[in-house]
Amino acid sequence: MALFSATLTKLIEEFAKLPGIGRKNAQRLAFHVLNGTEEQAEELAGAILAARRNLKFCTVCQNISDGEQCEICKNDSRDHSTICVVQDPRDVAAMERAREYKGVYHVLHGAISPLAGVGADDIKIRELILRINENIKEVIIATNPTVEGEATAMYIAKLIKPLGVRVTRIAHGIPVGGDLEYTDEVTLARAMQGRTEY
Ligand code: ZN
Repeated sequence: MALFSATLTKLIEEFAKLPGIGRKNAQRLAFHVLNGTEEQAEELAGAILAARRNLKFCTVCQNISDGEQCEICKNDSRDHSTICVVQDPRDVAAMERAREYKGVYHVLHGAISPLAGVGADDIKIRELILRINENIKEVIIATNPTVEGEATAMYIAKLIKPLGVRVTRIAHGIPVGGDLEYTDEVTLARAMQGRTEY
């Protein structure tokens, strides 16, 4: 016999698919929804749908954006001659929290990983190369210090250096195998200051 009704079971199953949510937490979330008002449930469902439907990437830096261009790319007080290359939109948020960096970004949406079948064409490297022109003075590569992140950094450096642009890699105060996203602000700021030339 099923423990819960079919509709409730379905809701629990959907929550259980979310990262970091186990069976118990999925049940807790489902009952939270049931115990709330219909308006609250609509707001939650609406927010999920709207985020997914309105998913847009900034035409310049490829970060997730509500408009054609993100707030950072639109901001004239940022240094548009320096591009910091990161793997994930969450890395942009981490960098911004560190308040050390005043340039603009480029979000790759992944890293090269032959094992996982991710090649250079599967991430936003081409879009980065297209941004390189005489106005760009430096490209700071801030991919994660993992095997994939390092391989991606090397690949990008090789492509960009011949274009006459300064290419640097952020310093490794960041633990090897670590995620930029989970690195504290002080370490991130130091990593940015101690970057090295390619
Ligand atoms: Zn942008």
